Amino acid sequence: MHEVGIMQSALDAIRQQAVKHGATRVSRIVLRIGTLAGVDLDALRFAYEALAPGGPADGAVLEIESVPARARCASCHAEFGAGRGFIFQCPHCGDYSGDIRAGRELGIARLEFP
Ligand SMILES: [Zn+2]
Repeated sequence: MHEVGIMQSALDAIRQQAVKHGATRVSRIVLRIGTLAGVDLDALRFAYEALAPGGPADGAVLEIESVPARARCASCHAEFGAGRGFIFQCPHCGDYSGDIRAGRELGIARLEFP
């Protein structure tokens, strides 16, 4: 379950940000996770519940923004929503595209301090 490692590094980054802002805790954490990032959001929330207590994120609200996958067609330049996988077919002209423009996000979008 690599979600534990992801959450551990997110909490490390949050701890550093809290120190930087002179805060002892954070009130809200917004993560942005692309649907192609290969992260199980339930497992990530579970890891948060397990790892947050005792740190600056203890008691903070965790929000996860899921970013849908989008690819751009090299032939007709259309941008289209994409499912799972690495090769996407353009719904306009039928060409295949590996030019992924969104969906691989994995990081902290925003932190709020009390
Ligand atoms: Zn196309």
